[in-house]
Amino acid sequence: MRPLLLLLVVLASAHSAFAGSSKSQGKGAPKPPPAPEAPPAPAPPPAWAEDLLAAVDPAADACTDFYQYACGTWLANTPLPADKPAYGRSFSTIRDRNLDTVKAIVESAALNPKGKDDDWRKLGETYGSCMEDKAIDAEDTVMLQPLFKEIDGVKSVKTFMRTAGHLSTMGVSGIVDAGIEGDFKDPNRNILYLAEGGLALPDKDYYFPTDDAGKKTLADYQAHVAKMLEFSGVQAKDAPGQAAEVVAFETKLAEAWVNKAELRDPAKSYNKIDRAGLIKLTPKLHWGEWLNAMGGTEVMDISIDAPGTFKKFEKILDDADVSTLRAYLRFHTIHAFAPNLAKRIFLEDFSMFQANLLGRKEPEPRWKRCIAHTNTAVGEVAGRYYVEKAFPGDSKEVAKGMLGDIQAAFVAGLPSLAWMDDTTRERAKEKSAKIGKKIGYPDKWRDYSKLQVTPYSHVTNVLAAAVFEHERNLVKVGQPVDRNEWYMTPQTVNAYYNPLTNEFAYPAGILQAPFFSRDFPAARNYGAIGAVMGHELSHGFDDQGRKFDGDGKMTEWWSPEVSTRYEAQTKCVKEQFDGFAIADGTHVKGDLTLGENIGDLGGVRASYRAFQATAGYKEPTGIATLNQDQLFFVAYAQNWCTVSSPQYDKMIVASNPHSPNRFRVLGPLQNLPEFHAAFGCAVGSGMRPAKQCEVW
Ligand SMILES: [Zn+2]
Repeated sequence: MRPLLLLLVVLASAHSAFAGSSKSQGKGAPKPPPAPEAPPAPAPPPAWAEDLLAAVDPAADACTDFYQYACGTWLANTPLPADKPAYGRSFSTIRDRNLDTVKAIVESAALNPKGKDDDWRKLGETYGSCMEDKAIDAEDTVMLQPLFKEIDGVKSVKTFMRTAGHLSTMGVSGIVDAGIEGDFKDPNRNILYLAEGGLALPDKDYYFPTDDAGKKTLADYQAHVAKMLEFSGVQAKDAPGQAAEVVAFETKLAEAWVNKAELRDPAKSYNKIDRAGLIKLTPKLHWGEWLNAMGGTEVMDISIDAPGTFKKFEKILDDADVSTLRAYLRFHTIHAFAPNLAKRIFLEDFSMFQANLLGRKEPEPRWKRCIAHTNTAVGEVAGRYYVEKAFPGDSKEVAKGMLGDIQAAFVAGLPSLAWMDDTTRERAKEKSAKIGKKIGYPDKWRDYSKLQVTPYSHVTNVLAAAVFEHERNLVKVGQPVDRNEWYMTPQTVNAYYNPLTNEFAYPAGILQAPFFSRDFPAARNYGAIGAVMGHELSHGFDDQGRKFDGDGKMTEWWSPEVSTRYEAQTKCVKEQFDGFAIADGTHVKGDLTLGENIGDLGGVRASYRAFQATAGYKEPTGIATLNQDQLFFVAYAQNWCTVSSPQYDKMIVASNPHSPNRFRVLGPLQNLPEFHAAFGCAVGSGMRPAKQCEVW
């Protein structure tokens, strides 16, 4: 089962895009801008400010384009590393550092797997077997052949669903994505969520290209499917025909899909149904077969995100030739494992899904990819040792204090929101008071005792890790929600808010410079990690989060009038972001990105207010060119300095709930009077348009 967390909102887009790193950054570090020719030499900036000032483009006008002002010199001096589709000043540099830390840990475990406990052995053997590229090449698709044999036995929709159910236990997605989470209406109890799936390309848009580049991508994809089928054992003469069938089949599925933006409405995507009801909804989809084969013989409580889509799927499957169904499953199986297979298969997958779709020029070195796999398989074992090395004891307390201040500022700001009423204000306050906070790492580490790991076969380990993860999740159905569980490992450079548990989590991996340091002044910490904290907090009150109460239950706790006024405010944000476009002219989807944009806007505002209340706010910055307010906003903007490929930008705009990073600076700050005052921006300047939006 692929991890599907319907509502989990994370801070940053596409982790994999940033995963790993390149060392080519170190040398080309930009020099600080030359000092103006002023006779009295200004005092040198404090050490903590050197990298911040070095990124600024002092020639740019802060009120015209603040992203250029805050990031310009860094952008000019930072080439996109060949092994990356995007490289961010904060996210990627921290990931580089975290990778080095984890590398030392996993290498030591691989050298001496018997040196500590059994988890340590699993860590070492997971990484060690992944590094054996010659053995992996020799193994080729041997471990997958039993699965291909099973697929060859598909003779009907019924046997297709049975096989797809079995494959889903190994992480191969068929036409449906599945996940386990709390029931929207009874959030303390887990149920099974089913969501429309079945596409290998990032979103339905890719199947209906409107320009030549899009048409070429789709043709390339079909050629890729043919090659992968051949690698799986299909005869060369048959592969192109089967590939055409697979792409035509996926295109029909894509046509049936409801847009992801529509499914953002939890009232729409939550459709509780029991086992019998599901079978009755689409009898020819044979859900009983699928559920039993994925191990869910006992599963009774289910919610389905788009019943209409599955009605259409039923017809599409019923009309499809058996040969198409087999080719489809065969491709999706080799596709799911491709990043972990022999070099020839890995490179073919890379050329389509990384080079073609994301603009990554070359693969990351093997050790980085093996750490990514190790983090997936036994991430909390690596995390235990990562925390010991990289998370000083009192960081947790400093971060907790900031979080409390930002929450207090958010609540203190409620009375000034004209669109709210007193009752809703009171309830928002109650919800905020109930938010749970996870900082650093779990109190209780994950139990890996049932995971099988061998030192001899990487692909066997990949399969075992997927099955372990599937089973670990499946047993939760019908059980109480475990509030101690983390959905990110400690070494992750990201953060999340989960409306169903009303809690946010900040892994140790993001509580690092330049996001955070015990040694930074308040302006820098509040501008950088503080805005991130405010972002996650605001998710509790965005277009999705506001539909859940303080206990995580989906309920209408707002009066209809306030809801209507709130929607008018958010419409302003939607239209603002609809107006932003990337270099090729494609516009941002204001509806798809609405929750994240509300989070950014509310986050920077709450953090700024909290910062104003700190003792540090009244002190001089020690920087001649920036006062406290200005420093705060520069630190905020620099969270998002990013170089990226055009393909990556296109993919983000097409399918990601986050806006491209440049607009995560421009959008929120255009709406913020405190920013306009800090830089003295005139009405009508780029950063201060006539119309401004206020939500939180
Ligand atoms: Zn977010």
